[in-house]
Amino acid sequence: MEAKKRSFLAIFRKNTCMKTNQKQCIFCGHTKLYKVSSTQFRCSTCKRTFSHAKHAQEQAILECFIDNNSAYECATLLGLNYLTVTKQYQKLRLMLIAHSETLYTEHTETFSQYDEYYFLPTCKRGKPKYIFDAIGILGMLYGKRIYTLLLPDQFAHLKNLEENAIEKETYARYLNQHKVAHYESFENALVDFWYFLENWMDHFKGVKKENFIYYLKEAEFKFNYDKEEQRLILEKMLVIKYV
Ligand SMILES: [Zn+2]
Repeated sequence: MEAKKRSFLAIFRKNTCMKTNQKQCIFCGHTKLYKVSSTQFRCSTCKRTFSHAKHAQEQAILECFIDNNSAYECATLLGLNYLTVTKQYQKLRLMLIAHSETLYTEHTETFSQYDEYYFLPTCKRGKPKYIFDAIGILGMLYGKRIYTLLLPDQFAHLKNLEENAIEKETYARYLNQHKVAHYESFENALVDFWYFLENWMDHFKGVKKENFIYYLKEAEFKFNYDKEEQRLILEKMLVIKYV
């Protein structure tokens, strides 16, 4: 942890110094800048206002996010306020959801395979009484990439019934028989993704159901892209966000 912390701090400082010394516009790269406050500059070419220090901080947080550090780990590594980091992590998660939605709209025609999956945390898996706590997900495949949709909670009305109620048994049987799946082959990115998602979710303790979408979409994003691709997509969106 200490070695990791030192290397992160080194990157953080290097980024801050580099950007501040070069005095370049973070949007267009031009060097004619006007100082508008002790930390902010305005670019005379693209007319945008920004802070090098804030930008460097966002870049450092982005690296932590891509490296799968929790917000707490990131705050410790960079010596930043925990709330600052959670806010930035939330922004990044919203960005990758927006990215996923754009791709989905662009690829609606090209889905060839799909699968329905019911997610339960490890501690509830394999225990029939928890089956109706499962979160239904529809996974679709375009090329080698996955797109996921949360299914509406179909079990809400069954949750308060007795454990052995006939309705529960019938529904569990129905679920097994009518699980939606269309695979072109069994060596399939969708199957790989369900394993990836289970491992991914095991890192988090006690995820609230209403926040599940953020974890799911982050898993989808990290499954679909390697670290370099993730960085390019999110950096581009971070810069657009300033406009
Ligand atoms: Zn500029």
